Amino acid sequence: MPTACERRDTFPHMEQDPVDHELASWLAAQTHSNPEQVEAELEIGERRRAFVVDELVEAGFTGGELLDLVLRLTGLDRAGAKALIAARAEVGRTSAGRETVPKRDQRLAQNEIVFRRVNERLVSSDGGEAASQELSLVCECTNADCLQALTIELAEYEWLRQNPRRFAVLPGHEAPAVEDVVERHDRFVIVEKHVETHEQVEAADPRP
Ligand SMILES: [Zn+2]
Repeated sequence: MPTACERRDTFPHMEQDPVDHELASWLAAQTHSNPEQVEAELEIGERRRAFVVDELVEAGFTGGELLDLVLRLTGLDRAGAKALIAARAEVGRTSAGRETVPKRDQRLAQNEIVFRRVNERLVSSDGGEAASQELSLVCECTNADCLQALTIELAEYEWLRQNPRRFAVLPGHEAPAVEDVVERHDRFVIVEKHVETHEQVEAADPRP
């Protein structure tokens, strides 16, 4: 590994201090990880750079954006950064069968599972007797902070719940990295999870 790394900008780097607290907390925030855990990982010298790349990839960064971040965070030159990214991608490929679903995907799916559960409670607490044709539910998107109302017809909702891989989200709340749009309506969009999380969302099906 080349030691004559360039200081590209004011971004925190990790060459001097084995543990850069600023970097650790920044990285933790970017990847929604536990700062202490990130810091502990950063402490392990040789694994630092690989860890940074893996975290960024898991957080969904790709291509030029990924390369740019790796350059800034590792202090590697362009060729070194590219080589490291390629090496980590290779590791990811060879362990793909064993290493199951990216944590990011699981976390996003978990948020949707929670909102689905909420909606199931809302629907069942409606009592059935009212059987209102229009339900006011919560958006089932991947964003844990989204609590926006979603209006859907009862029949449509019942049809949706027949498929545990599908969720109803507000237009614009789709997450294309982890799900496909299968139906677009004025007031909501039906998305279907990618294959990586099928097992997870099916296991949590409120109507098994
Ligand atoms: Zn939403």
